[in-house]
Amino acid sequence: MACYGGIEAGGSRFVCAIGSGPDDLQTVVEFPTRRPAETIADAVAFFDRQHGEGAQLLALGVGAFGPIELDPGRPDFGYITSTPKPGWQDVDLVGELARGTGLPLRIDTDVNAAARAERLWGAARGLEHFLYVTVGTGIGVGAYLGGRILHGAHHPEMGHVLLPIDPEEPEGFDGSCPYHGRCAEGLASGSALVARWGDRLDSLPEEHPAWRMEANYLGTFLAGLALVLQPQRILVGGGVMNAVLLDMVRDVLAARLGGYRRTLAARKEIDRFLVMPGLGPRAGLLGALAVARAMD
Ligand code: ZN
Repeated sequence: MACYGGIEAGGSRFVCAIGSGPDDLQTVVEFPTRRPAETIADAVAFFDRQHGEGAQLLALGVGAFGPIELDPGRPDFGYITSTPKPGWQDVDLVGELARGTGLPLRIDTDVNAAARAERLWGAARGLEHFLYVTVGTGIGVGAYLGGRILHGAHHPEMGHVLLPIDPEEPEGFDGSCPYHGRCAEGLASGSALVARWGDRLDSLPEEHPAWRMEANYLGTFLAGLALVLQPQRILVGGGVMNAVLLDMVRDVLAARLGGYRRTLAARKEIDRFLVMPGLGPRAGLLGALAVARAMD
């Protein structure tokens, strides 16, 4: 069976594996993301070992934190660019991995990679138009539209759009995004929740105003994305999401859409439109394999 290498290159951990899909993940290792040289060396050493043990890899796929330059025509193609992560600015991730492993390599953002995996094996199977949204430390969105991942001159950064400020937003909270302050990520990511309330959402009681405010921000954010991109479905996951919040976000989304798209006028249609991802915490790693498979 065709076998691929995958690297989920996250800001806090790297996960490397070989396999071909969810039913065939043969070897998985995980290590913390440290300085670039030692982290990349660990990844290269993993694939060297697999090669030494006889693995025949067709290609290596990487789903990476970013921002990353994805335009092959630019001299900094494959570089991590303006990340706030110390030591990782202007790192040639693709070049170092390709030279180190000697494998054909393809890279995409972590959310785009996860979206590819959800389309192959998860909650977006068979769809031509959907969004994959993750609400964790940051907010990321992968858009699959018209049968392909959406890319502009740069990969989309939808988590950084501006939102109307909630009327009960505490005075003096300027948002947690180092670039834009009160963008969606700066208002509704896990980092924003901790910065505003001093705690994670799931540590606060459900009557705490954090829940209503978070649902308001996310429902408003997703309504904007739904109107601009008209997906058939939105998958929303990440460390902040849970079943209680999802239900509250559906209420806000329905209200914001206002029945304008007739197939989303009834609440039961919203329940099918906004769902949790199907692959759970493995979406990132499977996404890296999906990126590798996309080279075929
Ligand atoms: Zn921002």
